[in-house]
Amino acid sequence: MKIAILPGDGIGPEIMAQAVRVLDALGEPFDMESAEVGGAGYAAHGHPLPPATLALAKQADAVLFGAVGDYRYDTLERALRPEQAILGLRKELGLFANLRPAILYPELAGASTLKPEVVSGLDILIIRELTGDIYFGKPRGVRECPDGPFKGQREGFDTMRYAEGEIRRIAHVAFQAAQKRGRRVTSVDKANVLETFQFWRDIVTDVHREYPDVELEHMYVDNAAMQLVRAPKKFDVIVTGNMFGDILSDAAAMLTGSIGMLPSASLDASNKGLYEPSHGSAPDIAGQGIANPLATILSAAMMLRYSLGMPGHAGRIEAAVKSVLQQGLRTADIFEDGTQRVSTQQMGDAVVRALA
Ligand code: NAD
Repeated sequence: MKIAILPGDGIGPEIMAQAVRVLDALGEPFDMESAEVGGAGYAAHGHPLPPATLALAKQADAVLFGAVGDYRYDTLERALRPEQAILGLRKELGLFANLRPAILYPELAGASTLKPEVVSGLDILIIRELTGDIYFGKPRGVRECPDGPFKGQREGFDTMRYAEGEIRRIAHVAFQAAQKRGRRVTSVDKANVLETFQFWRDIVTDVHREYPDVELEHMYVDNAAMQLVRAPKKFDVIVTGNMFGDILSDAAAMLTGSIGMLPSASLDASNKGLYEPSHGSAPDIAGQGIANPLATILSAAMMLRYSLGMPGHAGRIEAAVKSVLQQGLRTADIFEDGTQRVSTQQMGDAVVRALA
């Protein structure tokens, strides 16, 4: 199994080093090869996604990605900014399904802004479609308003669209993910107002016929936003379009109160994927050895489950993470009185020990 290791910028190299140690500790003959990406790619090769990095990502069975971005590169032209590397990888690798679990370990229930009893034990999976929707639909732009009370003024406009095949493939991802979890899918749309999402609802319903063992419910996005903060534990898998998913997945991430804990995956049609923590490169704490490596370690676990066909190892890593939290070990971002503050490296050590 070849794994492309792309640490990136800021805390990226620090957290990635711990994830690589955890993968090494599994005792499998993984072929792990590193390459520069983001600001590091620009500094070394003049581009955030250097050709050699892209070639490695394409060749590999899966990509483990740290984070990119640094204030140093904020003045570069847009095409050369570190964040372009993620967009480039998504496009070049055909990644269309973004999977973001929002898990709140009972030991961290105090970190959420919601009441512990509402979120303790939360374990939901948000699946966001990445290639369609109003983010990419054409035409778009600013033009002269053709009619109505503002006729003749300038107006901004975008086009919301989803092709049938795009909806079908993300629906399959959602139903198959649900089969590995609680067997329930909530498809979030705005079918009462938008033609695109009435179509979405019809197609998801049609795909559901192939998955009689999974329960499907449809929910309008405004209600879904409300339910996410009212009773988030009622969800299992949420599947939705690009824009609604963008918003709901960030809201769900914050339910857990600890961005340093949340992994994510972006998959292509054959389950090859890019795995990364949900957070950014945290330049404010880079180089201090205090970043939380658990989101990256849990991303490696997702990689083993979804792309490398090793659910047993994935489960072992997840159990090891749970065990270090039960031991009371905490990096600064999740530290509370009565727990033991540890560094990035010490957290990695503890996970490796718990695996053994
Ligand atoms: P961020 O996620 O990097 O940081 C937000 C806050 O969370 C900061 O206070 C940071 O210290 C903290 N934090 C993040 N990860 C942490 C961890 N593992 N352990 C402890 N604390 C952690 O978001 P930002 O500050 O808005 O962005 C910083 C840079 O990251 C920007 O250049 C941005 O473009 C980039 N970014 C990259 C990605 C990505 O690579 N996928 C995603 C988001 C932002």
